[in-house]
Amino acid sequence: MNNCFVLKFGGTSVGDVAAFERVFHAVSTQIEKRPVIVVSAMTMVTDALLNAFEIAKKGGFSEALMSLEPHFERHLKVSKVFISAESPNAFNGELDFARNELSDLLMRVSRRSLPLAMLKDAILSYGEQMSSHLLAEVLRAKGLNARQMDSRRLIVTDDEYGAAQPIWDETEKLVRLELLPLIEAGEVPVLGGFIAASRGGETTTLGRGGSDYSAALVAAALRANELQIWTDVTGVMTCDPRICAEARTIPFLSYEEAAELAYFGAKVLHPKTIKPAVDFKIPVRVCNTFEPAETGTMVLDESGETKNKIKSISHKPNITILRITSARMLGSYGFMSALFQVFERFRTVIDVISTSEVSVALTLDNTDSLEQIVTELERLGDVEVEPGFAVICVVGEGLRASTGLASKIFSTIEDINIALVSHGASSVNLTFVVKEDVVGDVIRKLHRTFFGGSD
Ligand code: ASP
Ligand code: MG
Repeated sequence: MNNCFVLKFGGTSVGDVAAFERVFHAVSTQIEKRPVIVVSAMTMVTDALLNAFEIAKKGGFSEALMSLEPHFERHLKVSKVFISAESPNAFNGELDFARNELSDLLMRVSRRSLPLAMLKDAILSYGEQMSSHLLAEVLRAKGLNARQMDSRRLIVTDDEYGAAQPIWDETEKLVRLELLPLIEAGEVPVLGGFIAASRGGETTTLGRGGSDYSAALVAAALRANELQIWTDVTGVMTCDPRICAEARTIPFLSYEEAAELAYFGAKVLHPKTIKPAVDFKIPVRVCNTFEPAETGTMVLDESGETKNKIKSISHKPNITILRITSARMLGSYGFMSALFQVFERFRTVIDVISTSEVSVALTLDNTDSLEQIVTELERLGDVEVEPGFAVICVVGEGLRASTGLASKIFSTIEDINIALVSHGASSVNLTFVVKEDVVGDVIRKLHRTFFGGSD
C-alpha cells in the first residue's frame, strides 16, 4: 500500500463555479489521505467537442470553432472567480493554447489532412486537458499544492482511436514513476481522465465515460487505499426511490453484486471500467458531490451477507417477451445456435432467457428490429410476441447459499403472475419477469419484506 487515495470527479462535479467549490471541499478535507485527482471534462464539453468535429467534417470550420466559444467562456468564468487578477494564472495561457490547437485540428478535419479517427481523439482530449489545468489552478489558488499532470504521459494504449485499450505493464510503470515522487513530496497530482496516448505518442481516448477507467488504472498502479468516484448520486440504492420512498443507500456491495446491478440500470459503476481496481482489490467508494457528508456505497471484494441476505431490487421496464416453440428442438443440437444467430445479425441483446424441451422464452428491451427478428425466427418455430413486461432483479451475496431465499421472495409476491424466471447463472442474482403494471407493487412488497419500512 502506498497510502494514497484516488478521487475521481465526474463532469457534473466540475460543471460550474459552485461545483469547483465543492471539489475543493472534498479534496481539502481529505488532504491527509494524500489524494490523487482524476477529473472528467466539464459537463457538456465532450459532447460540444464531438459536435464541433462533426460540423468541421461537413466543411464548416469557422462554425465549428465558434460553437466551442461558450464552453471556453465557462472555463474562463470559473478561473476568474477563483484566481485573482493580480496573481499568476497559468490557466489563461492553457486556454489560449487549447483554442489555437483546436482551431488547427478542426481545420485539418475540414481538409481531411490526417486520419479522422486520430483527429477526433485529439479534439476530444481538450475537454479533460482544459478541466484538469483549470482544476489544478483553482486548487492552487485556494492554497493546495496541486499540479496538473498530462495523462498522455502516464497511460499508454494501443492505437484503437475512440476506444483505446490500455497497455497495463507500461502504464503501471509510468504512473508509479511519475506520481509517487509527487505524492511523497506532498503534492496533489491532478490528471484528466479519458485521455491517453499510444506508444507512438498520438493522443487516444478510452471511450465515452472513460474517466472512471482512467481513475481505476491509476488507483491500481498506485495500489491506492481507496478509489472514490464522486458523482451526482449517493451511491447505489436498495431500489428505485421513485417507486418506493423507503429506498436507501446500500452501505456495502461486493464487486460481483455491483456488476449485476450495473446491468440493470444502476449505472453508477461499469464493471469494465472498475476492473483494474477490482484486480487489486481496491475498495471503490461512490460519493455524491452534492451531499458530501453522506457515506455513499462502498464496493469491496467481499461485502459480507447482510441480515436479510439481499442488497438490492432493481428493475428494467419496457421489456418484450418472445416465445419460440418448436418440436424440432426436442433432442436436437444446433437449435440454440441458429436462434442466437438471428439476434446477432440484428445486433439485439437478450436479457433473460429460459428454456424447456420444446420452447425458449427470452426478453428484449431493444425492439428496433423486432419485425425482422420475428420473421427470421418463424423459420425455426412458432413465435409469440408479448410486450409490456418488466424485468426484476434481486441481488445479494445471500442468494448464493440460502436455499429458502428464493421461496421467501416468491411467497412474498404469490398473488402475482410471473412470466419468466432465471436463477443460477450468477449466484448472487435472481431475475424474473412480470407485467409492467404490477412492477411497482412487486418492488414495494419485496422491499417491505426484506428491508422493513411502512411503504
Ligand atoms: N468526458 C468524457 C465523456 O464525456 C469522459 C468522462 O466523462 O468520463 O465521455
Ligand atoms: Mg461521465
